[in-house]
Amino acid sequence: QAKKAGKKNYVTFNDIMHEDLVERISIEKYLEKALEHNEFELHYQPQLDIRTETITGFEALLRWNSPDLGAVSPIKFIKVAEETHFINQLGEWVLNKACGFLKRVREKGYSNLTVSVNISILQLLNTNFQDIVKESLQSHQLEPKCLELEITESILMESFDFIASRLQELRDINVGIALDDFGKGYSSLNYLKQLPITTMKIDKIFIDHIAEDSEDDFVGHIISIGKNMGMNVIAEGVEVQNQFNYLKKHNCDKIQGFLFCHPIPEADIFRLLEENQ
Ligand code: C2E
Ligand code: MG
Ligand code: MG
Ligand code: MG
Repeated sequence: QAKKAGKKNYVTFNDIMHEDLVERISIEKYLEKALEHNEFELHYQPQLDIRTETITGFEALLRWNSPDLGAVSPIKFIKVAEETHFINQLGEWVLNKACGFLKRVREKGYSNLTVSVNISILQLLNTNFQDIVKESLQSHQLEPKCLELEITESILMESFDFIASRLQELRDINVGIALDDFGKGYSSLNYLKQLPITTMKIDKIFIDHIAEDSEDDFVGHIISIGKNMGMNVIAEGVEVQNQFNYLKKHNCDKIQGFLFCHPIPEADIFRLLEENQ
């Protein structure tokens, strides 16, 4: 960004604010049309059992290739979609696509694999979210237990009781609930205790730390907390072998990360499955 400031040779807070604002406005301008124009795609990142090193499931990750803006990071456009409430419609599209994908995976004979879908808390606040989930599962003839919903604690603060009961309804039909980016926010432990979480996803910032100091037991203790609470524990953002070794030694259940595979399109997943299983 500093280079773009040109002659001035310094960047002020206002410059950054301005750039962000311009970017935000153009994202908003093109975002809603992007669904009609078929500009979204899901990529899938494999999740592996750390002991057998086989694929147990996939996380669906949304991609937007805008003809006007190029590839836009989901971190940016999801935020805008939440602000405009377009996230409800977009999130439903993601859920249906991911279920369709898993149906095709299962039809190829991989009958135990799961799919994890990131959802925004705003979708939960939308009263018929459980029905949307049930309908999507039914129309793709999937058992609820093969779907996991990933939530982040970021904006969970408000309406906590309402969100907890919504999640419990989904849990009651056997949909899995993952707490994403665990440890990155403020009150993670409290969420683990108060919400019907089945999977703890340890955030990449902790996994990065392993690479720097693999003697430190800190991440091992986090894994123990999750396991002692009866959760499945998965490490996100595993990039190097010594992280993998550490996580295996400390009994982490699963891993996800570039070490094994980047998020890739459906066709590549089918190729990978043939090689891996
Ligand atoms: P997330 O749910 O925590 O997803 C993991 C992110 O880490 C993904 O980024 C993934 O590509 C990236 N990643 C995976 N393994 C590695 C690794 O080894 N190293 C590094 N450096 N990164 C790794 P991505 O796809 O850019 O997504 C960013 C975030 O956007 C997601 O974080 C999630 O919060 C949000 N997001 C993506 N798709 C959706 C969606 O369909 N709905 C909602 N509500 N949010 C989504
Ligand atoms: Mg996620
Ligand atoms: Mg997330
Ligand atoms: Mg995450």
